[in-house]
This record gives sequence, structure tokens and C-alpha cells, in this order.
Amino acid sequence: MRRNLNKNKNMVVAIIVTAILVISLITRLVNEHRENKAKPINEESFVRMLDVGQGDAILLYSGGRAALIDTGTKTYAKSISKQLKGEGIKSLDLMIISHNHSDHMGGIVPLTEEFEVKELIVPDLNKTDEKTDKMKTAMSNVKKSGGKCVTAEKGMKRSLGDFDITVVGCYYDEQDENDRSIILKAKIGKWRFLFTGDAQEPAERRLIGDNADIRCDVLKVGHHGSMYGTCEEFLAKAAPSLAMISCGKGNRYSHPHDVVLMRLEEAGVKYFRTDISGAVTFKVTEKEITVDKEK
Ligand SMILES: [Zn+2]
Repeated sequence: MRRNLNKNKNMVVAIIVTAILVISLITRLVNEHRENKAKPINEESFVRMLDVGQGDAILLYSGGRAALIDTGTKTYAKSISKQLKGEGIKSLDLMIISHNHSDHMGGIVPLTEEFEVKELIVPDLNKTDEKTDKMKTAMSNVKKSGGKCVTAEKGMKRSLGDFDITVVGCYYDEQDENDRSIILKAKIGKWRFLFTGDAQEPAERRLIGDNADIRCDVLKVGHHGSMYGTCEEFLAKAAPSLAMISCGKGNRYSHPHDVVLMRLEEAGVKYFRTDISGAVTFKVTEKEITVDKEK
């Protein structure tokens, strides 16, 4: 009798445990499906790597809303302004500065004077080796016109038209300023863009170690294609099919480096360079990404 009771008890426990496991598995699958389900792309949307010589400036545009990731050197501020106005852009919903180097934030003062910026996202200014006066002037310009300024943190999310933008990493404790770059992922429909600023191998390895969401269709190659970045493991995890490299013609750093170009070629990644093609536009629709080169 007692043995039977124990048997029944064990069976009930087994059924309950199985039920809990099945329910949690179903919940996980439903959640994963929900997360992976692409949102429709309703608006005209594109990502454009502007031609700013040796520097970075990337425009995200969707449904009349615009974001600028980096502002090139100061020399190119006028050119960026012209290119934005050419698209009918009068204000920026978002400006993000990947890190405090002049080829990424050099144009920040004139551009925040000229354009209303609703939100400026900057790296942690307590953790930079460079002067912060330009960043602070720009922040006060943004605040004066009613915008807000925030420091990037991992996991921070913003939406811009049909884009969902997430900070997937920012390693402010890294030794090299380049590796302290804010790493961003922008999802639109089923497509994913990864923006790496000037991050190199140390930051790439941290992203891999953190199991960060770096898988993408289009990669903005880190640090203008420097030989210290885009390591094989990172490229394998990110697994892009397209890539963009921003660099100046005949630049003194030999960017992009042959080693990186070879790695991209071996991985079957089609890449576009601003020093050869000028501005490169990735036009996004639900079905495809089409690439337009300026030259
Ligand atoms: Zn740079």
C-alpha cells in the first residue's frame, strides 16, 4: 500500500516537472519567434556612409526621421551639412558620437550649431584621454535648442522611423580610446546593421565574450579597416554579407589594410569603400538591400 502511494507520488512529481519543462520550452519558443519576427518596413529608409575622407559619418534615414552616427573631421562639417540638406533634412532626431576622436567628433560644434539635434548620445566623457571642450560646447548647443544629451550605456534602445537601434557594447575601461567606441546595432525589417566606430580586436573579443548580439547583414568595418581590427573570430560571429569602409584616399595610415580586405574576401563579404566609391547608400526594403555608389 505504502509502496503504491510512493509510486503515485513520484508519478505526480514527474508529471508536474515535465509540465513545467514543456511550458517553459513553449514560452521560450514563442518569445524567440516574437523577437525574430521582422517588423514591416513602411517608410523610405536607408543607411548612407557619407564621404568624409579619413573619418566616419553615417546617416540613418527612415520616414523623414534622421540620425547621424559620427560627424567626420571639422573640415568636412560643411560637406555633411550640404549632404543632409540635400536630403531635405533640417533637424536630427539623433546624433551619436562613437568616441572622442577628431575624425569622428570633429564636426560636432558646427553641426550642432546649424542643426537642431533632439538627442545627442555621447560616450562617457569621464573615461576619455582627449579634451572634452568640443563635446561640451556641442552638448550645450543641443540643450539650448531644447534637446537632451545622454551618455551611452549597454542595452540602451532608440527607435528612428522603422529602425530599432541598440547599444550592444561600450567598453569604457579599455586602454585604447578606439576600443571605447560605442557599438551599435540597427535593425530594420529583417535586416541588421552593425556600427563599430573605431573598435579593434580587444573590443571585438569583449563583444564575443559577452555573447553580444553582433550578427548582422551589413558591417561598418571597425577603425577604417585597420589591421588591428576585424579579427577572424569577430567576422565569423558577425557573419555579414555586405560591409562598408570609410577612409580617405591615400591616407597615411594605409587604411583599409590588405589583411582586413583579404579576410572580408575570404568570408565572402562584399565591401564598399568611400575612398573609391564616394558616399555609399544601402537602401532597405522588406525584400532587399540595394547599394548605390556615388562614383
Ligand atoms: Zn577613426
